Amino acid sequence: MSPRPDLRGRLAAARAQREHAGLSRRVRACDVLPGGRRMVGGRVLTDFCGNDYLGLASHRDLVTALTRAAVAEGVGTGAAHLVSGHRGEHHALEEELAEWTGRERAVLFSTGVMANLGALQALLGAGAMPGREAALCVQDKLNHASLIDGAQLAGAALRRYPHGDAAAAARQLDAQPGLPALLATDGVFSMDGDIAPLAALASLCRERATLLYVDDAHGMGVLGPAGAGSVAAAGLGSKDVPVLMGTLGKALGCAGAFVAGDADIMDAIVQFARPYIYTTAMPAALAAATRAALRLVREDSEGRRERLAANVARFRAGATALGLPLMPSTTAIQPLLLGDAGSAVAAARLLEQAGFLVVAIRPPTVPPGGARLRITLSAAHSEARVDALLDALARIPLPAQAIAV
Ligand SMILES: *Cc1c(COP(=O)(O)O)cnc(C)c1O
Repeated sequence: MSPRPDLRGRLAAARAQREHAGLSRRVRACDVLPGGRRMVGGRVLTDFCGNDYLGLASHRDLVTALTRAAVAEGVGTGAAHLVSGHRGEHHALEEELAEWTGRERAVLFSTGVMANLGALQALLGAGAMPGREAALCVQDKLNHASLIDGAQLAGAALRRYPHGDAAAAARQLDAQPGLPALLATDGVFSMDGDIAPLAALASLCRERATLLYVDDAHGMGVLGPAGAGSVAAAGLGSKDVPVLMGTLGKALGCAGAFVAGDADIMDAIVQFARPYIYTTAMPAALAAATRAALRLVREDSEGRRERLAANVARFRAGATALGLPLMPSTTAIQPLLLGDAGSAVAAARLLEQAGFLVVAIRPPTVPPGGARLRITLSAAHSEARVDALLDALARIPLPAQAIAV
């Protein structure tokens, strides 16, 4: 018998290969300073790579709600939602999220990754015949990793269409008419910042008895009336997009996620989503903080969405004047496409020396040759900070032309 292959050896080879390609990842502590700055490796930096688009993560109302609820209820919930971990704060938050998004019911998850894994595993996998493909799942090529993983977890036949190509999605659905089907897309694409062709996807799904699932992690709070997201901004409702997923850790400034839809779909998720059933409920204090965030987002009496839009416009105008390789995005995500990983890493390092935290996004998070600086704007940035970032970008060597990926 030949000796069993060694797992440690295989891992060492995989790590060495990644290191050799210049694609190793490292964790660094980024501590919070007053005024939205960060302390990283002994330097004070302005963060232009986070997803706190409205600057709510350190808002006094959220901090007050969190601490008050923690004093009253403690920290941990000690059990799953279906056991004894589901508090009044969770229940109220779910009802408010459902009302905000115009859906019958919303269900909380502890993270967005878990929401996608759980919802897709339940919707695509429950009731499937053993030994057969569970369902057809058609997805945009640039969807978030957790959507792809969710379809695989469900044992679905996964087909990925070229980015934003609704006609290709329709062809993939038509090629397999014998399986029940779900089409999943990001609302706003996390590494590109552009918005999915939601109206076209909704109509092709309606014509093909296909459930449309939109992950609006980067649209919730930012786009649409009352910040209800990219689906609401496109004028679409629950009939057009039966399953809507949103995260609470980006524009809402907290942590966690939810899935919203009609009562039948949501009950299927509660019955069958293992990452919902088998995990401890998020702290009730976090739900209380999220309710405070949701009030601020819906009313927006401080004009945060407008300030964010003004910063996006200011950045795009300045970057256009400098001839920087902008991508076709109207959202808070404004990547500069540099192509090779080495240029992106070098540019990020130079920006850091100039006082800005911008991370180079490299394969496999983006396609080969698609390395970029993922710059994100926030309502918390002053105009002067946006201008200072543009000044720094003007001083570092960057390719002038966008590179075709
Ligand atoms: C961030 C993100 C998620 C994951 O959400 P977390 O709450 O951070 O786990 C899911 N989908 C998309 C599109 C995201 O950008």
